[in-house]
This record gives sequence, structure tokens and C-alpha cells, in this order.
Amino acid sequence: MLVVMQHNASSQEIRDVVDMIQEMGYEARPIPGRQRTSVGLIGNDGQIEPNFFQSLPGVLEVIPVSHSYKQVSREWKEENTVVSLPNGTQLGGRQIALMAGPCAVESEEQILGIARTLAGMGATILRGGAFKPRSSPYSFQGLGVEGLKLLAKARTETGMAIVTEALDAESADHVAEYADIIQVGARNMQNYALLRKVGQIGKPILLKRGLSATIEELLLAAEYVIAEGNPNVILCERGVRSFDTQTRNLLDLTAIPVVKSLSHLPIIADPSHGTGVRAKVTPMARAAVAAGADGLMVEVHPDPNRALSDGAQSLYPEQFQALMNQIRVIAQASDRELTPPLGRTGS
Ligand code: PEP
Ligand code: MN
Repeated sequence: MLVVMQHNASSQEIRDVVDMIQEMGYEARPIPGRQRTSVGLIGNDGQIEPNFFQSLPGVLEVIPVSHSYKQVSREWKEENTVVSLPNGTQLGGRQIALMAGPCAVESEEQILGIARTLAGMGATILRGGAFKPRSSPYSFQGLGVEGLKLLAKARTETGMAIVTEALDAESADHVAEYADIIQVGARNMQNYALLRKVGQIGKPILLKRGLSATIEELLLAAEYVIAEGNPNVILCERGVRSFDTQTRNLLDLTAIPVVKSLSHLPIIADPSHGTGVRAKVTPMARAAVAAGADGLMVEVHPDPNRALSDGAQSLYPEQFQALMNQIRVIAQASDRELTPPLGRTGS
């Protein structure tokens, strides 16, 4: 339930509503907005009569939040959430953010080299797995903490922000020490213990949609993170399982406008895992930007044929450059723009 205050409500009137909610034994969460403040009531067990708050001084209206997710919903917060990173990149505002890099960190030469190339092409966030969720236990599992240190070195050299995956609570602590965004992968979208853990850490979270998760389940997973007090969640559509074998997954671009109507959180698309096929990445990246994505996550490798993971879906650097040039135009046509390249932002 959301108690929306009048725009000229006094701070005392807001406090009275908060106190009243707490006296009733529920949690109150004030949400300051551009026009007016709202106070969210968490834990409504159906015992509360909305009219009770309606008559309090300074209250404009009381909105029952009908979804099973609350704090991620547009009803709860009308304005878009904008997640800001230390290097000035923002997700959820007018600018479209580019996360790019190899599937996995493989060596110092590989990650530093590709980071320099990608930063030069205008990407401002470097991706690269150090802890890899592999379908086979015999496949390359990542460099672990050593990989995180190499990512941090790439950040120091290029200014790019770092996004990398945490597989479990233990790796989450390591990742939090080095990364700017903690990625929760598709296989972990419903790992509720991990979601709570990264919610408590408080760094921005990239939450990827589960392999067979509905949009509602994705939003409920985000609710776990926000319920722990971390509002900086970026959602990611990365394709879902389908019956067709032509592509690795089915990139569900409908999820972008659907999420935008249901939630205030930013949503990006990952056309690399979404298609699994190099030649299909660029067309789907273009489509995702046209559909309103707040950013893209794209796998790019300096030598895809020798990649230790996901080489078949990794772009060559020059293909990424071409992709950037194309989506710049699409962004403009959508009244948006790409995040300015590092070094030219003044940050
Ligand atoms: C990844 O981004 O490297 C990854 C493993 O993605 P997903 O969790 O979407 O499969
Ligand atoms: Mn990958």
C-alpha cells in the first residue's frame, strides 16, 4: 500500500504517517519524489483499511499495490530509477550504456588489450567473468580472485567501470571488493540467499533473467534485492529457453517495454547470450536499442576462435565498432544518446 502525500504536505505530516504505520506494526518507507513524497507500507497482511490513512492531514490518496512485487513497481515509484556508476555512466536515464568485453577474463594481456580497444571505441563498462557458471564441471571455471585483480587493473588503465559475476555468497564478497556492478547470472536469478546477500552489500546489481523465468519472477527476484535496502538494480533480458534450435536462446525483446511499464528499474539487453550466434548479435542489439533498452551487454573477444568460453557468440572488435556506429543513430532516433566515451565526459 502506498500513501501518497499532497505536494505541500509538511514534514511533520509525513512523519505522522510514518509513525502511524510503525505503531500498527508495519514497516514504513518514505519515497521522496519530484512532485510529492509517498510513504510505502510494507507487510500489509490485508488487515489495513485504506480509508484509515485517507483522512490523515496532508494525505492525497492511498493506492493499494496490487502486484506481488511492490518496491520494484511503477505504482510504488513513478520516476525511472537511474543507477549511477563512479565513472559517470548512468543506467536508466536518457543515455544508453555499453557493457562490453570477453565472456571470461583469461589473461592480463587479453583483458587489458580488449579493455583499451573497447574504451577507445566508446564503451564505458567492461565485462568479464572471473567466476564462471559453466554447464560442465570440466570447462574453464574462470581465474577467480586473480581475474578480479586483472579487471581492477583494466579499470585503472582505462577508466571503465567493471561488471562481473558473483556465483555465491563467498564470491560475492570478493566481487564486491573489486567490481562496480555485481552480476547475478541467469542460473542464479532465483537463488534467494544470494539475492539477499548482494542486497545487503549495496553495490549496483545486474540481475539477469533466468533461463525459464517469467517477467514477474524476474521482478520478484529484484524485489529481494530492494527489500534488503539496495535500490540500484539493473535488469537484463538475456534470452529464454525455447523450442527452436537455430539460436541458443530466444531473446525476448518484448520484455523491455513490458518491464518499463511495470517497473521503474533500468533494463538492458544481452544479445550475445540471447542468440549465441555471432552473426545474430548486431541485428538484435539494434533491435534492443530500438525497443527502449537502457543499455547493452555484448561479448567481444580479441581472438574469438581461441576464446576459452562463448567464442561463437563473441564479436570481433571491429564488429563492435560497427555496432556502436549503428546504435548511435538508433539512439538518436529514439530521442536518446549513447554514454559519451570516457575522457570526454569531464568525469
Ligand atoms: C555471462 O554473462 O557471462 C553469463 C554467464 O550470462 P548468463 O547468466 O546470462 O548465462
Ligand atoms: Mn558468456
